[in-house]
Amino acid sequence: MFIKNLRKLSLLILVFSLVSGLFGCSSGYADNPNKDRETLFQVSTINALMEGLYDSVITVGDLLEYGDFGIGTFEGLDGEMVVLNGKCYQIKYDGAAYLKEDSAGVPFADVTYFDKDYEGEIASGTTFEQLKTLVGETLPTENIFYAIKIEGTFTFMQTRSVAGQEKPYPPLTAVTADQVVFDFNNVKGTIIGFYCPEYVAGVGVAGYHLHFITDELDAGGHILNFTVDEAIMYIDYTNEFYLMLPGEGSDFYNTDFSPDYSEGIEEAEK
Ligand SMILES: [Zn+2]
Repeated sequence: MFIKNLRKLSLLILVFSLVSGLFGCSSGYADNPNKDRETLFQVSTINALMEGLYDSVITVGDLLEYGDFGIGTFEGLDGEMVVLNGKCYQIKYDGAAYLKEDSAGVPFADVTYFDKDYEGEIASGTTFEQLKTLVGETLPTENIFYAIKIEGTFTFMQTRSVAGQEKPYPPLTAVTADQVVFDFNNVKGTIIGFYCPEYVAGVGVAGYHLHFITDELDAGGHILNFTVDEAIMYIDYTNEFYLMLPGEGSDFYNTDFSPDYSEGIEEAEK
């Protein structure tokens, strides 16, 4: 139902764009010529996931209009999402990755078009914890968004995925308590994810949120830990942020977001 409404809204935006084009006023993001390149586009908030809001906000097909690179999850919290080179993959509870159909629903995601602003080798033996310092020291500021892509081989890679849920949806921490963990040894693949500044905590995951997919595009998940064998890191500096919230009639409208979710997010995502 939300997807139908969204289509209507898109149509309205299109009509408005045409009309505003004639009268010379701006209609915002839809008309922004930079939207394809320098904007992090996010669907819903991490606090909404904490409250068990796993209904679809946008389809995979529409999400891919806003970026060719990113991460997220699927309706019902059905596994981990990776968007790489314009294709959307679902890493399910069995650990396997599947190409996802355009009609599938998305309750939460972050995507952008990836243009590298920085490229650097990562030393052999570097762990996820160590990489966090490296990025903090190497990049110009901790106060903007970064899209992070790391290609290479990893002596160790640990990921997780979660099982799709039925309504009434349990909160995120209850689902991740039953997460399944996958260990890979000497695996070749790509890390896909984002660094979000501390001040967006609750909207996004503050700090690092990384997913992984193998070179064969057949497995991966939400990253818990890794050790680099040899890898190259590419960073896209991202100064713009666009947030799409669930529409009218959604549970999002009636949820009390006053609790402090920071500890729960730490537990669920890190
Ligand atoms: Zn994740």
